This record gives sequence, structure tokens and C-alpha cells, in this order.
Amino acid sequence: MSRLSNRTTRDATGEMVLRAPSLARFPWLVHGFSTRRGGVSSFLRSSNSSGGGADLNLGKSQWDSAKNVLENRRRLLDRLAAEDMTLAIQRQIHSDLIRVLDGNRFPAPPPAGDGLMTRQPGLLLAVLVADCLPVLLVDSKQRVVAALHCGWRGTARRLAEKAVGTMRMQFGSRPEDLWAAIGPGIRECCYIVGQEVVDEFHGQFHYAEKLFVTRTRPLSPMELKNSIMVQPFRSNFGPQLKKEVHLDLTLANVEQLREAGIPARHIESNAPCTSCHPERFFSHRRDGGRTGRMLGVIGIKETR
Ligand SMILES: [Zn+2]
Repeated sequence: MSRLSNRTTRDATGEMVLRAPSLARFPWLVHGFSTRRGGVSSFLRSSNSSGGGADLNLGKSQWDSAKNVLENRRRLLDRLAAEDMTLAIQRQIHSDLIRVLDGNRFPAPPPAGDGLMTRQPGLLLAVLVADCLPVLLVDSKQRVVAALHCGWRGTARRLAEKAVGTMRMQFGSRPEDLWAAIGPGIRECCYIVGQEVVDEFHGQFHYAEKLFVTRTRPLSPMELKNSIMVQPFRSNFGPQLKKEVHLDLTLANVEQLREAGIPARHIESNAPCTSCHPERFFSHRRDGGRTGRMLGVIGIKETR
């Protein structure tokens, strides 16, 4: 598996878009994973800052204006040289619904679902993310593309696996012709999950064991304080430790894509952790649910 390219384009605002080298070599393809850089929004800026925001928020949010979001989307399309393409964004519901688009128009208001697929040039399929994984799929022979929104619920419902199945059925795709890139999302280092997630995955996947890592850490000062208040005597006996279960959501999706027949070397999965890099990415979990949105996009260029 090769590394997602961090190479930036010429803009002084930094890396607005990350690209997967394995997808970048198809000249008929447009793709990318946006970061939070290069926009006009101001996320959580203090009142004494200059006021000129640079956040690339691409989803409608209470803290941001529709005008900013439109301008940010325009900048992203401009950066991708995709100004003429129609941006297709669903109303995401953490499902396994995949919609195949055959016209070059996208319905308004946007339909609900978490996967988009097309062979129609001119459509730029997109998924909104801030920790959930944007997964892009390409059939390099049939020229079919898909964009998937894979959080833990969609992953547990086998969205990535189903997308490969849909491509095979609807377009006659062969798994060995497929390429996949998993974009920035919350990685195992930061993704602490509850028992219900562990149970769900163990009920679904024979390889569930390897998707989870149990880590032990000392209690934080706040947790220690609370625990002393609850159990005043236990704190006298050495450092108190907390066990946490981490989910490797990226690996879960790699496994699905491999089980569906895509060769391992066709799957890029080394994108950075959104939660670990506040200067580069929005993170739903890190920012306490109030954050911006990034886009993973893929489409087929119109030939002129
Ligand atoms: Zn992390």
C-alpha cells in the first residue's frame, strides 16, 4: 500500500487537498480529500483574531454562513480543475444505501444515503466527513467511480463490501480492476469505542478480533479527582489506570475491500488521523461535535 500524497499545490494557504498517488495516474479521473485549509470560514477563532478565516468548511453548519460554504466549495472545485462538474452530496444517514446515478444531474433536495456511484462524466461524487472515512473506489477498465461515507455504522453494515458488489452487478466490474483510497479519518490512536460497537463488529466479522486494540492509560487529573470523590480510599494505592478499547476503522474497511476481491496493493490506507492534527483537519470527536466538514470527492472528467 502506498502513502497518500501530502504534496501541496502552489497555493500559499497550504495543502488544501490530499491525493492518492494510485488514483492520480488515471488522467480521466478527478479525485481528492479536502483538508481544513484554504477556505474563508472562521472556526472557533477568538474575537481578537484578525477575523479573516482560512478554514475550508464544506458542510452546512450553525456556526458558518451558507455564503462561506458556497465559496469554500467553489475554491475546492477550482483547485481540482473541476469547475464545470456537478457536485453530488447526499443527505448522509449512516446507512448502507448506495445510489447509482445515470444522468448528469443530481436531484434536489439531495436524497438520503451513504454511497454514490456513476459512470457518467461530469458528476463529482462527494462525501462529507469529519472523522468518518471517505472511501473512493474506481474501476479503471469500465471507468466507474464511487464515493462512500464509512463511519462505524456504515462499516458494520458492510457499505464498502456492498459497493464492490453493486459495481460488479451493475457494471460488470472485475475486482482485480478496482482501486480504492481511504482518506483522512479518525484512526485507531484516537478512536475509543463502547461495548456496543465491539459487540456489533464481533457479530458481523470473522476477523473482528484484529480490528480492536485495548490500551491502558493513567487517569487524567479530572478523572482522578472524580474517582477520589467517589472512592476516596482507593487513590492511595498506586496510579489508577483506565482500560479503553480502540477501533481500527481503516483496517475494517481494508478488510472488506480485500474480502470483496480487490488486490491489497490496489488499496491506499495510510491517510493521517483527523483527530491528531487540529491544524490540518476537522474532527467531530476532538471538537466535541461542533466542527466543520471536509469532502472526499471523485468523478470522471468530461471529454471535450
Ligand atoms: Zn489520532
